[in-house]
Amino acid sequence: MSATKGEELRGILHPSDTYIILDLEWNQPIPWIKSKVDPKELPGEIIEIGAVKLTAGATGISLSRPFHVLIRPVCYTIMNKNVSRVINKISSDLRHGLSFTDAYDSFIQWCGQDFVICGWGNSDLSILKTNLRFHDRSAILGKPFLDVQTLFSKVAEEGNDKRSVEYAVDFLRIPKQDDFHEAHRDADYTGRILKAIFEIIEKDGERTAGRRNSGMEPETAGISPKTKRCDIFRLEQYLFDPDLNVQSERRTDYFPSWEECCRRTFTEEALCPACGSPMKEELGWFRIRKSAFSLFRCDRHNLTAGRIRLKKNPEKKIYGTVTFKLIQPGEAVLTEDRYAEYSEFGAEGKPRAVVNHADGKAQEDEIGEEKCETIHSD
Ligand SMILES: [Zn+2]
Repeated sequence: MSATKGEELRGILHPSDTYIILDLEWNQPIPWIKSKVDPKELPGEIIEIGAVKLTAGATGISLSRPFHVLIRPVCYTIMNKNVSRVINKISSDLRHGLSFTDAYDSFIQWCGQDFVICGWGNSDLSILKTNLRFHDRSAILGKPFLDVQTLFSKVAEEGNDKRSVEYAVDFLRIPKQDDFHEAHRDADYTGRILKAIFEIIEKDGERTAGRRNSGMEPETAGISPKTKRCDIFRLEQYLFDPDLNVQSERRTDYFPSWEECCRRTFTEEALCPACGSPMKEELGWFRIRKSAFSLFRCDRHNLTAGRIRLKKNPEKKIYGTVTFKLIQPGEAVLTEDRYAEYSEFGAEGKPRAVVNHADGKAQEDEIGEEKCETIHSD
């Protein structure tokens, strides 16, 4: 018996029973060689598609044999040295293979109908979309995306670091048989990582259930709250829609002070930029200097990062520009890092480095993003 959509299998609520783990290799332009396309439009041309299919059925999790196809590039036909060093290919290797559209069609046919697309990080997704557009194909993928790199950090390491596939393979003690950086091999390793993550979640679920049956509360069972997970793991919270790129922006009223502007704006209802529904607070608003940050979640569209940029008008009244942007789960780390700064240094933020200029006056050196943020007098 195979699982149906939304079915709970041994502790995980699966949005689909099929996961396509995709890995692409692409060549990059060489700056001094003129190409027929603007590199901004096509930052990389796909030369290899690799994938494996993970099936989560009632009898367990299985991985397919890898799908693998080589593509003959039409723009970047000379191997970029930096790429060559990583993926171990030379220019003559680029003379063989299918056209992009034939290769993509055979990949889509192999995928089947109902699946979640998975990748290690999200760079493959944006390259895939630029290649589809370049070849006059629709860039709408129509499937949810699962970033296995983020899932690995959160579940296996309980952190936020972006790790390499090889790091995760070592961490999870997955046997290494092949070299990395070949599309189908990286896809296969990523598939094994995802399988191992599912097994960790399942084991955790069983442990929690065991404790509950024995009448022990998780807190008293010697497990730290950090490692404690729910009986049913909702994988949906790690998915995002790769076809949605939505942001809303509005301006607040004028207020006499930063504090008043924040106090009022922080308590307003947050609405999803994609569907307008009220969102649940994930990480409440906090202010660092002249910016405030938050994370909210829409039931349908998942994570949204909120930001308020505080400004002053010529009459010295304070107002803010409030933006809500749909983000991928891996991007939440930017806000979480800000929150760590806020927890340590408060609204003043991390002290800025003091730079001594030739005129003897000490001047504050703004850090990072704040550097280009000015108070507009409009
Ligand atoms: Zn929504």
